[in-house]
Amino acid sequence: MNYSEVFGKVVSHCKEYGFIFPSGEIYDGLSAVYDYGPAGVQLKRNLSDAWWKAMTQKFDNIVGLDAAILMPPTVWKASGHVDAFNDPLIDNKDSKKRYRADVLVEDYIEKLLEKARKEEEKLIKKGKTPEEAARMPQVKKSVEKAEAARIRLAEVVNAGDMHAFKRLIDDLEIVCPESGTRNWTDVRQFNLMFKTRLGAVADEGADLYLRPETAQGIFVNFLNVQKSSRMKVPFGVAQIGKAFRNEIVARQFIFRMREFEQMEMQYFVRPGTQSEHYRFWKEERMRWHLSLGIPAERLRYKDHDKLAHYADAATDIEFYYPFGWKETEGIHSRTDYDLRRHQEFSGKKQTYFDPETQESYIPYVVETSVGLDRTVLMHLCNAYAEEEAPTAEGGTEVRTVLRFHPAVAPTYVAVLPLVKKDGMAEAAKSIHERLKNRFFSAYDEKDAVGRRYRRQDAKGTPFCVTIDTETLSDGTVTVRERDSMAQERVSTDALESYLAAKSTGV
Ligand code: ATP
Repeated sequence: MNYSEVFGKVVSHCKEYGFIFPSGEIYDGLSAVYDYGPAGVQLKRNLSDAWWKAMTQKFDNIVGLDAAILMPPTVWKASGHVDAFNDPLIDNKDSKKRYRADVLVEDYIEKLLEKARKEEEKLIKKGKTPEEAARMPQVKKSVEKAEAARIRLAEVVNAGDMHAFKRLIDDLEIVCPESGTRNWTDVRQFNLMFKTRLGAVADEGADLYLRPETAQGIFVNFLNVQKSSRMKVPFGVAQIGKAFRNEIVARQFIFRMREFEQMEMQYFVRPGTQSEHYRFWKEERMRWHLSLGIPAERLRYKDHDKLAHYADAATDIEFYYPFGWKETEGIHSRTDYDLRRHQEFSGKKQTYFDPETQESYIPYVVETSVGLDRTVLMHLCNAYAEEEAPTAEGGTEVRTVLRFHPAVAPTYVAVLPLVKKDGMAEAAKSIHERLKNRFFSAYDEKDAVGRRYRRQDAKGTPFCVTIDTETLSDGTVTVRERDSMAQERVSTDALESYLAAKSTGV
Protein backbone atom coordinates (compact mmCIF):
# COMPACT_ATOMS: atom_id res chain seq x y z
CA MET A 1 0.00 0.00 0.00
CA ASN A 2 1.50 3.35 -0.92
CA TYR A 3 1.24 6.55 1.14
CA SER A 4 -1.68 8.00 -0.83
CA GLU A 5 -3.85 4.88 -0.61
CA VAL A 6 -3.71 5.13 3.16
CA PHE A 7 -5.72 8.32 3.49
CA GLY A 8 -9.27 7.08 2.84
CA LYS A 9 -8.56 4.08 5.03
CA VAL A 10 -7.29 6.25 7.88
CA VAL A 11 -10.45 8.38 7.76
CA SER A 12 -12.79 5.41 7.99
CA HIS A 13 -10.60 3.66 10.55
CA CYS A 14 -10.76 6.78 12.73
CA LYS A 15 -14.53 6.61 12.77
CA GLU A 16 -14.79 2.87 13.31
CA TYR A 17 -12.36 2.78 16.23
CA GLY A 18 -13.47 5.95 18.00
CA PHE A 19 -10.65 8.31 17.08
CA ILE A 20 -12.43 11.09 15.16
CA PHE A 21 -16.06 11.81 14.17
CA PRO A 22 -17.53 14.64 12.05
CA SER A 23 -18.98 17.21 14.45
CA GLY A 24 -22.74 16.91 14.98
CA GLU A 25 -22.89 14.02 12.53
CA ILE A 26 -26.58 13.25 13.15
CA TYR A 27 -27.25 16.73 11.71
CA ASP A 28 -24.98 15.95 8.71
CA GLY A 29 -21.92 17.47 10.39
CA LEU A 30 -20.32 20.88 10.10
CA SER A 31 -17.74 21.38 7.42
CA ALA A 32 -14.14 21.20 8.71
CA VAL A 33 -15.16 20.73 12.34
CA TYR A 34 -14.48 17.40 14.04
CA ASP A 35 -14.98 15.70 17.40
CA TYR A 36 -12.43 13.39 19.00
CA GLY A 37 -13.74 10.06 20.29
CA PRO A 38 -12.36 8.05 23.21
CA ALA A 39 -9.25 6.75 21.40
CA GLY A 40 -8.62 10.04 19.56
CA VAL A 41 -8.82 12.25 22.62
CA GLN A 42 -6.26 10.09 24.41
CA LEU A 43 -3.92 10.10 21.41
CA LYS A 44 -4.26 13.87 21.19
CA ARG A 45 -3.71 14.30 24.92
CA ASN A 46 -0.62 12.07 24.90
CA LEU A 47 0.83 14.18 22.11
CA SER A 48 0.07 17.47 23.83
CA ASP A 49 1.46 16.11 27.13
CA ALA A 50 4.63 15.06 25.33
CA TRP A 51 4.95 18.57 23.84
CA TRP A 52 4.22 20.27 27.17
CA LYS A 53 6.84 18.13 28.88
CA ALA A 54 9.39 18.71 26.10
CA MET A 55 8.95 22.46 26.55
CA THR A 56 8.13 23.33 30.15
CA GLN A 57 9.66 20.38 32.03
CA LYS A 58 12.80 19.99 29.95
CA PHE A 59 13.72 23.68 29.77
CA ASP A 60 14.15 25.58 33.06
CA ASN A 61 13.59 28.86 31.25
CA ILE A 62 10.24 28.00 29.62
CA VAL A 63 7.02 28.51 31.57
CA GLY A 64 3.39 27.81 30.70
CA LEU A 65 0.37 30.02 30.13
CA ASP A 66 -3.33 29.52 29.42
CA ALA A 67 -4.76 32.74 27.98
CA ALA A 68 -8.44 33.23 27.11
CA ILE A 69 -9.78 32.70 23.59
CA LEU A 70 -11.60 36.05 23.68
CA MET A 71 -9.38 39.11 23.92
CA PRO A 72 -9.85 42.88 23.62
CA PRO A 73 -10.41 43.50 19.88
CA THR A 74 -7.55 46.02 19.68
CA VAL A 75 -5.17 43.07 20.12
CA TRP A 76 -6.04 41.98 16.57
CA LYS A 77 -5.64 45.47 15.16
CA ALA A 78 -2.20 45.72 16.76
CA SER A 79 -1.15 42.26 15.57
CA GLY A 80 -2.12 43.09 11.98
CA HIS A 81 -4.78 40.38 11.75
CA VAL A 82 -7.69 42.76 11.10
CA ASP A 83 -5.91 44.26 8.08
CA ALA A 84 -3.76 41.44 6.80
CA PHE A 85 -4.98 38.01 7.90
CA ASN A 86 -6.39 37.29 4.49
CA ASP A 87 -6.30 34.50 1.97
CA PRO A 88 -6.77 35.04 -1.78
CA LEU A 89 -10.11 33.60 -2.85
CA ILE A 90 -11.35 32.62 -6.32
CA ASP A 91 -14.60 31.03 -7.56
CA ASN A 92 -15.25 28.91 -10.58
CA LYS A 93 -18.43 30.24 -12.22
CA ASP A 94 -19.47 26.86 -13.63
CA SER A 95 -19.01 24.57 -10.64
CA LYS A 96 -19.70 27.40 -8.13
CA LYS A 97 -16.78 25.96 -6.14
CA ARG A 98 -14.55 28.24 -4.12
CA TYR A 99 -10.77 27.86 -3.95
CA ARG A 100 -7.72 29.46 -2.40
CA ALA A 101 -5.89 30.93 -5.37
CA ASP A 102 -2.45 30.14 -3.90
CA VAL A 103 -3.45 26.52 -3.26
CA LEU A 104 -4.60 26.13 -6.89
CA VAL A 105 -1.15 27.23 -8.07
CA GLU A 106 0.64 25.09 -5.47
CA ASP A 107 -1.35 22.03 -6.58
CA TYR A 108 -0.44 22.80 -10.20
CA ILE A 109 3.27 22.93 -9.21
CA GLU A 110 3.01 19.72 -7.20
CA LYS A 111 1.42 17.92 -10.18
CA LEU A 112 4.27 18.98 -12.46
CA LEU A 113 6.85 17.77 -9.96
CA GLU A 114 5.00 14.50 -9.53
CA LYS A 115 5.01 14.05 -13.31
CA ALA A 116 8.77 14.71 -13.36
CA ARG A 117 9.33 12.19 -10.54
CA LYS A 118 7.37 9.50 -12.41
CA GLU A 119 9.29 10.14 -15.65
CA GLU A 120 12.53 9.95 -13.69
CA GLU A 121 11.57 6.62 -12.11
CA LYS A 122 10.73 5.21 -15.55
CA LEU A 123 14.09 6.31 -16.97
CA ILE A 124 16.01 4.89 -14.00
CA LYS A 125 14.21 1.57 -14.47
CA LYS A 126 15.36 1.64 -18.11
CA GLY A 127 18.99 1.90 -16.92
CA LYS A 128 19.70 5.66 -16.71
CA THR A 129 21.55 7.00 -13.65
CA PRO A 130 19.55 9.48 -11.49
CA GLU A 131 21.78 12.33 -12.83
CA GLU A 132 21.17 11.32 -16.46
CA ALA A 133 17.41 10.96 -15.84
CA ALA A 134 17.23 14.45 -14.30
CA ARG A 135 18.85 15.90 -17.46
CA MET A 136 16.38 14.31 -19.90
CA PRO A 137 14.06 16.84 -21.63
CA GLN A 138 10.80 15.17 -20.47
CA VAL A 139 11.94 15.57 -16.84
CA LYS A 140 13.70 18.93 -17.16
CA LYS A 141 10.74 20.59 -18.87
CA SER A 142 8.29 19.85 -16.02
CA VAL A 143 10.79 20.86 -13.32
CA GLU A 144 11.57 24.16 -15.08
CA LYS A 145 7.87 24.89 -15.59
CA ALA A 146 7.20 24.21 -11.90
CA GLU A 147 10.10 26.45 -10.84
CA ALA A 148 8.90 29.31 -13.06
CA ALA A 149 5.39 29.04 -11.58
CA ARG A 150 6.81 28.98 -8.06
CA ILE A 151 8.76 32.19 -8.68
CA ARG A 152 5.71 33.97 -10.14
CA LEU A 153 3.53 32.78 -7.23
CA ALA A 154 6.03 34.18 -4.70
CA GLU A 155 6.04 37.48 -6.64
CA VAL A 156 2.26 37.96 -6.69
CA VAL A 157 1.87 36.85 -3.07
CA ASN A 158 4.63 39.20 -1.92
CA ALA A 159 3.14 42.08 -3.88
CA GLY A 160 -0.39 41.26 -2.64
CA ASP A 161 -1.49 41.97 -6.22
CA MET A 162 -4.84 40.25 -6.84
CA HIS A 163 -4.98 41.23 -10.56
CA ALA A 164 -1.57 39.64 -11.12
CA PHE A 165 -2.83 36.57 -9.27
CA LYS A 166 -5.72 36.20 -11.70
CA ARG A 167 -3.34 36.67 -14.65
CA LEU A 168 -1.09 33.93 -13.25
CA ILE A 169 -4.00 31.47 -12.98
CA ASP A 170 -5.05 32.34 -16.56
CA ASP A 171 -1.49 32.07 -17.91
CA LEU A 172 -0.94 28.68 -16.30
CA GLU A 173 -4.27 27.56 -17.80
CA ILE A 174 -5.37 26.11 -14.46
CA VAL A 175 -8.78 24.46 -14.66
CA CYS A 176 -11.34 23.87 -11.92
CA PRO A 177 -10.93 20.29 -10.62
CA GLU A 178 -14.76 19.96 -10.51
CA SER A 179 -15.99 21.52 -13.76
CA GLY A 180 -12.77 21.30 -15.77
CA THR A 181 -13.31 24.87 -17.05
CA ARG A 182 -11.28 28.08 -16.79
CA ASN A 183 -14.32 30.28 -16.15
CA TRP A 184 -12.90 32.04 -13.05
CA THR A 185 -13.98 35.12 -11.09
CA ASP A 186 -11.41 37.73 -10.06
CA VAL A 187 -9.19 36.94 -7.10
CA ARG A 188 -10.12 38.79 -3.91
CA GLN A 189 -8.93 38.91 -0.32
CA PHE A 190 -10.93 37.19 2.42
CA ASN A 191 -10.35 37.75 6.16
CA LEU A 192 -10.14 34.48 8.06
CA MET A 193 -11.17 35.66 11.51
CA PHE A 194 -14.51 34.65 13.03
CA LYS A 195 -16.44 37.54 14.53
CA THR A 196 -18.69 37.41 17.56
CA ARG A 197 -20.31 39.92 19.90
CA LEU A 198 -19.80 40.81 23.53
CA GLY A 199 -22.91 40.86 25.78
CA ALA A 200 -25.97 42.82 24.71
CA VAL A 201 -24.16 46.00 23.69
CA ALA A 202 -24.94 46.96 20.12
CA ASP A 203 -22.16 49.42 19.34
CA GLU A 204 -19.11 48.82 17.13
CA GLY A 205 -16.68 48.37 20.03
CA ALA A 206 -18.49 45.21 21.12
CA ASP A 207 -17.26 43.22 18.10
CA LEU A 208 -14.91 40.48 19.20
CA TYR A 209 -12.88 37.89 17.33
CA LEU A 210 -12.27 34.27 18.12
CA ARG A 211 -8.47 34.11 18.24
CA PRO A 212 -6.91 32.88 14.98
CA GLU A 213 -3.66 31.97 16.79
CA THR A 214 -2.69 31.49 20.43
CA ALA A 215 0.50 33.56 20.15
CA GLN A 216 -1.07 36.96 20.90
CA GLY A 217 -2.22 35.75 24.33
CA ILE A 218 1.47 35.22 25.11
CA PHE A 219 2.58 38.60 23.77
CA VAL A 220 0.05 40.60 25.76
CA ASN A 221 1.11 38.72 28.91
CA PHE A 222 4.84 39.12 28.25
CA LEU A 223 5.51 41.46 31.20
CA ASN A 224 3.03 39.73 33.55
CA VAL A 225 4.87 36.45 33.04
CA GLN A 226 8.37 37.92 33.05
CA LYS A 227 7.85 39.86 36.27
CA SER A 228 5.79 37.29 38.21
CA SER A 229 8.14 34.42 37.32
CA ARG A 230 11.32 36.55 37.55
CA MET A 231 12.40 35.32 34.12
CA LYS A 232 15.56 36.61 32.46
CA VAL A 233 15.89 36.92 28.68
CA PRO A 234 16.26 34.50 26.95
CA PHE A 235 13.12 32.76 28.19
CA GLY A 236 10.06 31.16 26.65
CA VAL A 237 6.32 30.96 27.27
CA ALA A 238 4.43 27.87 26.10
CA GLN A 239 0.72 27.55 25.50
CA ILE A 240 -1.70 24.94 24.15
CA GLY A 241 -5.15 26.06 23.08
CA LYS A 242 -7.89 26.40 20.52
CA ALA A 243 -7.65 28.71 17.54
CA PHE A 244 -10.29 29.47 14.91
CA ARG A 245 -9.96 30.28 11.22
CA ASN A 246 -12.75 30.65 8.71
CA GLU A 247 -10.75 28.70 6.12
CA ILE A 248 -11.94 29.22 2.53
CA VAL A 249 -11.56 25.63 1.52
CA ALA A 250 -11.60 23.06 4.24
CA ARG A 251 -10.35 19.75 2.93
CA GLN A 252 -8.28 16.80 3.93
CA PHE A 253 -9.99 15.77 7.14
CA ILE A 254 -8.35 17.26 10.25
CA PHE A 255 -5.49 18.81 8.25
CA ARG A 256 -7.37 22.05 7.67
CA MET A 257 -10.06 22.73 10.24
CA ARG A 258 -12.06 25.79 11.19
CA GLU A 259 -11.63 25.06 14.90
CA PHE A 260 -8.28 23.53 15.85
CA GLU A 261 -5.60 23.43 18.50
CA GLN A 262 -2.16 24.95 18.45
CA MET A 263 0.87 24.33 20.64
CA GLU A 264 2.94 27.48 20.54
CA MET A 265 6.07 28.65 22.30
CA GLN A 266 7.34 32.22 22.08
CA TYR A 267 11.01 32.56 23.00
CA PHE A 268 12.05 36.09 24.00
CA VAL A 269 15.66 36.91 23.13
CA ARG A 270 18.10 39.83 23.04
CA PRO A 271 17.94 41.67 19.67
CA GLY A 272 20.79 40.54 17.47
CA THR A 273 20.87 37.01 18.92
CA GLN A 274 17.72 35.79 17.14
CA SER A 275 19.46 33.80 14.39
CA GLU A 276 21.30 31.51 16.82
CA HIS A 277 18.06 30.84 18.76
CA TYR A 278 16.18 30.32 15.50
CA ARG A 279 18.75 27.69 14.44
CA PHE A 280 18.51 25.98 17.82
CA TRP A 281 14.70 25.76 17.77
CA LYS A 282 14.62 24.58 14.18
CA GLU A 283 16.77 21.60 15.14
CA GLU A 284 15.17 21.00 18.51
CA ARG A 285 11.66 20.81 17.05
CA MET A 286 12.76 18.35 14.37
CA ARG A 287 14.37 16.22 17.11
CA TRP A 288 11.03 16.15 18.95
CA HIS A 289 9.10 14.77 15.96
CA LEU A 290 11.82 12.16 15.40
CA SER A 291 11.82 11.17 19.09
CA LEU A 292 8.16 10.16 18.76
CA GLY A 293 8.91 7.77 15.94
CA ILE A 294 8.20 9.84 12.81
CA PRO A 295 10.80 8.61 10.28
CA ALA A 296 13.37 11.12 8.99
CA GLU A 297 12.49 10.38 5.35
CA ARG A 298 8.93 11.65 5.86
CA LEU A 299 10.05 14.96 7.44
CA ARG A 300 11.77 17.95 5.85
CA TYR A 301 12.34 21.68 6.31
CA LYS A 302 10.82 24.10 3.84
CA ASP A 303 12.01 27.68 4.11
CA HIS A 304 9.34 30.29 3.34
CA ASP A 305 9.48 31.99 -0.07
CA LYS A 306 7.32 34.74 1.32
CA LEU A 307 8.04 36.08 4.80
CA ALA A 308 5.05 37.23 6.85
CA HIS A 309 4.99 40.95 7.61
CA TYR A 310 6.50 40.32 11.06
CA ALA A 311 9.21 37.76 10.28
CA ASP A 312 12.93 37.96 9.45
CA ALA A 313 13.29 34.19 8.93
CA ALA A 314 10.78 31.34 8.74
CA THR A 315 10.74 27.67 7.98
CA ASP A 316 8.14 24.92 8.06
CA ILE A 317 8.61 21.37 9.22
CA GLU A 318 6.74 19.40 6.59
CA PHE A 319 5.51 15.83 6.77
CA TYR A 320 4.85 13.67 3.74
CA TYR A 321 1.07 13.27 4.20
CA PRO A 322 -0.89 10.95 1.88
CA PHE A 323 -1.72 14.11 -0.15
CA GLY A 324 1.90 15.31 -0.39
CA TRP A 325 4.44 17.36 1.57
CA LYS A 326 2.55 19.74 3.88
CA GLU A 327 3.27 21.93 6.88
CA THR A 328 2.91 20.50 10.38
CA GLU A 329 4.88 23.13 12.25
CA GLY A 330 6.20 26.64 11.64
CA ILE A 331 9.35 28.10 13.20
CA HIS A 332 9.40 31.87 12.83
CA SER A 333 11.80 34.57 13.83
CA ARG A 334 9.20 37.28 14.52
CA THR A 335 11.53 40.21 15.40
CA ASP A 336 10.10 42.69 17.94
CA TYR A 337 7.08 43.35 15.69
CA ASP A 338 4.34 42.09 18.01
CA LEU A 339 5.60 43.58 21.27
CA ARG A 340 6.38 46.88 19.55
CA ARG A 341 2.88 47.05 18.06
CA HIS A 342 1.27 46.23 21.42
CA GLN A 343 3.36 48.98 23.02
CA GLU A 344 2.12 51.38 20.35
CA PHE A 345 -1.56 50.41 20.54
CA SER A 346 -1.82 50.02 24.33
CA GLY A 347 0.45 52.88 25.27
CA LYS A 348 2.13 50.53 27.80
CA LYS A 349 5.90 50.08 27.64
CA GLN A 350 6.92 46.55 26.62
CA THR A 351 10.62 46.95 27.34
CA TYR A 352 12.83 44.68 29.39
CA PHE A 353 15.84 45.81 31.41
CA ASP A 354 18.70 43.38 30.81
CA PRO A 355 20.81 43.16 33.99
CA GLU A 356 23.70 41.63 32.03
CA THR A 357 24.07 44.29 29.37
CA GLN A 358 22.51 47.07 31.48
CA GLU A 359 20.31 48.08 28.53
CA SER A 360 16.58 48.39 28.07
CA TYR A 361 15.06 46.90 24.94
CA ILE A 362 11.99 45.27 23.42
CA PRO A 363 12.97 41.59 23.06
CA TYR A 364 12.97 39.79 19.74
CA VAL A 365 10.92 36.61 19.48
CA VAL A 366 11.54 33.17 17.99
CA GLU A 367 8.31 31.19 17.78
CA THR A 368 7.61 27.50 17.39
CA SER A 369 4.01 26.83 16.35
CA VAL A 370 2.71 23.34 15.75
CA GLY A 371 -0.86 22.26 15.02
CA LEU A 372 -1.96 19.58 17.47
CA ASP A 373 -4.56 18.15 15.08
CA ARG A 374 -2.05 18.03 12.22
CA THR A 375 0.34 16.22 14.58
CA VAL A 376 -2.44 13.71 15.36
CA LEU A 377 -3.05 13.21 11.62
CA MET A 378 0.68 12.80 10.98
CA HIS A 379 0.90 10.07 13.63
CA LEU A 380 -2.23 8.33 12.31
CA CYS A 381 -0.99 8.35 8.70
CA ASN A 382 2.46 7.18 9.73
CA ALA A 383 1.13 4.44 12.01
CA TYR A 384 -1.49 2.88 9.72
CA ALA A 385 -0.53 -0.44 8.12
CA GLU A 386 -2.23 -3.51 6.70
CA GLU A 387 -0.26 -6.74 6.60
CA GLU A 388 -0.49 -10.50 6.49
CA ALA A 389 -0.45 -12.03 9.96
CA PRO A 390 -0.56 -15.67 11.08
CA THR A 391 -3.78 -17.05 12.56
CA ALA A 392 -4.11 -19.55 15.42
CA GLU A 393 -5.23 -22.17 12.87
CA GLY A 394 -1.94 -21.94 11.01
CA GLY A 395 -3.18 -19.82 8.10
CA THR A 396 -2.79 -16.09 7.51
CA GLU A 397 -5.14 -13.10 7.52
CA VAL A 398 -4.83 -9.39 6.91
CA ARG A 399 -4.41 -7.40 10.10
CA THR A 400 -4.81 -3.65 10.38
CA VAL A 401 -2.36 -2.17 12.82
CA LEU A 402 -1.58 1.30 14.07
CA ARG A 403 2.12 1.34 14.86
CA PHE A 404 2.07 4.26 17.29
CA HIS A 405 5.11 5.07 19.35
CA PRO A 406 4.34 3.61 22.83
CA ALA A 407 4.47 7.09 24.39
CA VAL A 408 1.51 8.30 22.33
CA ALA A 409 -0.66 5.16 21.91
CA PRO A 410 -4.13 5.73 23.46
CA THR A 411 -3.95 2.43 25.38
CA TYR A 412 -0.55 1.30 26.57
CA VAL A 413 -1.37 -2.26 27.55
CA ALA A 414 -4.32 -4.66 27.26
CA VAL A 415 -4.77 -7.48 29.76
CA LEU A 416 -6.46 -10.56 28.33
CA PRO A 417 -7.39 -13.82 30.07
CA LEU A 418 -6.88 -16.65 27.56
CA VAL A 419 -10.31 -17.97 28.59
CA LYS A 420 -12.75 -16.78 31.22
CA LYS A 421 -12.74 -19.95 33.33
CA ASP A 422 -10.37 -21.61 35.83
CA GLY A 423 -9.67 -18.36 37.67
CA MET A 424 -7.92 -16.75 34.66
CA ALA A 425 -10.39 -13.86 34.45
CA GLU A 426 -9.90 -13.09 38.17
CA ALA A 427 -6.09 -13.24 37.85
CA ALA A 428 -6.22 -10.98 34.75
CA LYS A 429 -8.51 -8.46 36.47
CA SER A 430 -6.18 -8.19 39.43
CA ILE A 431 -3.17 -7.59 37.11
CA HIS A 432 -5.19 -4.96 35.23
CA GLU A 433 -6.11 -3.23 38.53
CA ARG A 434 -2.43 -3.05 39.43
CA LEU A 435 -1.23 -1.88 35.99
CA LYS A 436 -3.81 0.87 35.64
CA ASN A 437 -2.22 2.82 38.50
CA ARG A 438 0.70 3.38 36.20
CA PHE A 439 -0.43 2.92 32.58
CA PHE A 440 -3.52 3.22 30.43
CA SER A 441 -4.54 -0.41 30.71
CA ALA A 442 -7.58 -2.07 29.12
CA TYR A 443 -9.20 -5.32 30.18
CA ASP A 444 -10.86 -7.47 27.52
CA GLU A 445 -12.32 -10.95 27.89
CA LYS A 446 -14.78 -11.08 24.97
CA ASP A 447 -14.17 -13.34 21.90
CA ALA A 448 -11.24 -15.59 21.06
CA VAL A 449 -7.85 -14.23 22.03
CA GLY A 450 -6.81 -13.85 18.37
CA ARG A 451 -9.75 -11.48 17.73
CA ARG A 452 -8.84 -9.52 20.84
CA TYR A 453 -5.25 -9.14 19.59
CA ARG A 454 -6.60 -7.77 16.29
CA ARG A 455 -8.82 -5.28 18.10
CA GLN A 456 -5.87 -4.00 20.12
CA ASP A 457 -3.67 -3.87 16.98
CA ALA A 458 -6.32 -1.74 15.28
CA LYS A 459 -6.26 0.71 18.19
CA GLY A 460 -2.48 0.74 18.27
CA THR A 461 -2.01 -0.81 21.74
CA PRO A 462 1.71 -1.64 21.92
CA PHE A 463 1.50 -4.52 24.45
CA CYS A 464 -0.95 -7.31 25.23
CA VAL A 465 -0.54 -9.29 28.43
CA THR A 466 -2.14 -12.74 28.29
CA ILE A 467 -3.02 -14.78 31.35
CA ASP A 468 -3.11 -18.56 30.80
CA THR A 469 -2.87 -21.77 32.81
CA GLU A 470 0.86 -21.27 33.32
CA THR A 471 0.14 -17.95 35.04
CA LEU A 472 -1.85 -19.79 37.66
CA SER A 473 0.90 -22.34 38.28
CA ASP A 474 4.15 -20.32 37.95
CA GLY A 475 3.09 -16.65 38.08
CA THR A 476 4.30 -15.74 34.55
CA VAL A 477 2.33 -14.03 31.79
CA THR A 478 2.83 -13.67 28.04
CA VAL A 479 3.66 -10.21 26.77
CA ARG A 480 2.95 -9.80 23.07
CA GLU A 481 4.56 -6.91 21.25
CA ARG A 482 2.27 -5.32 18.65
CA ASP A 483 4.64 -4.77 15.69
CA SER A 484 6.76 -7.93 15.75
CA MET A 485 3.96 -9.99 17.34
CA ALA A 486 6.80 -11.63 19.32
CA GLN A 487 5.74 -13.11 22.64
CA GLU A 488 7.82 -13.26 25.77
CA ARG A 489 7.12 -14.77 29.18
CA VAL A 490 7.56 -12.34 32.02
CA SER A 491 7.01 -12.90 35.72
CA THR A 492 4.02 -11.00 37.09
CA ASP A 493 6.25 -9.39 39.72
CA ALA A 494 8.52 -7.90 37.07
CA LEU A 495 5.69 -6.92 34.69
CA GLU A 496 5.37 -3.26 35.68
CA SER A 497 9.06 -2.46 35.38
CA TYR A 498 9.27 -4.52 32.15
CA LEU A 499 6.47 -2.45 30.57
CA ALA A 500 7.75 0.86 31.93
CA ALA A 501 11.20 0.25 30.41
CA LYS A 502 9.60 0.02 26.95
CA SER A 503 8.54 3.68 26.86
CA THR A 504 11.72 5.30 28.13
CA GLY A 505 13.73 7.71 26.04
CA VAL A 506 10.95 10.19 25.27
P1 ATP B 1 -1.36 26.84 6.19
O1 ATP B 1 -0.38 27.50 5.26
O2 ATP B 1 -1.40 25.34 6.05
O3 ATP B 1 -2.72 27.47 6.16
P2 ATP B 1 -0.31 28.53 8.20
O4 ATP B 1 1.05 28.81 7.66
O5 ATP B 1 -1.37 29.54 8.07
O6 ATP B 1 -0.82 27.10 7.67
P3 ATP B 1 0.46 29.05 10.89
O7 ATP B 1 -0.30 30.31 10.96
O8 ATP B 1 1.95 29.08 10.81
O9 ATP B 1 -0.15 28.14 9.72
O10 ATP B 1 -0.02 28.15 12.12
C1 ATP B 1 0.84 27.29 12.82
C2 ATP B 1 0.36 25.86 12.77
O11 ATP B 1 -1.02 25.76 13.10
C3 ATP B 1 0.47 25.22 11.41
O12 ATP B 1 1.76 24.71 11.20
C4 ATP B 1 -0.56 24.12 11.47
O13 ATP B 1 -0.01 22.96 12.05
C5 ATP B 1 -1.62 24.69 12.39
N1 ATP B 1 -2.78 25.15 11.61
C6 ATP B 1 -2.92 26.32 10.97
N2 ATP B 1 -4.12 26.40 10.37
C7 ATP B 1 -4.75 25.23 10.65
C8 ATP B 1 -6.04 24.70 10.31
N3 ATP B 1 -6.92 25.40 9.60
N4 ATP B 1 -6.37 23.46 10.77
C9 ATP B 1 -5.50 22.74 11.51
N5 ATP B 1 -4.28 23.20 11.85
C10 ATP B 1 -3.90 24.43 11.44
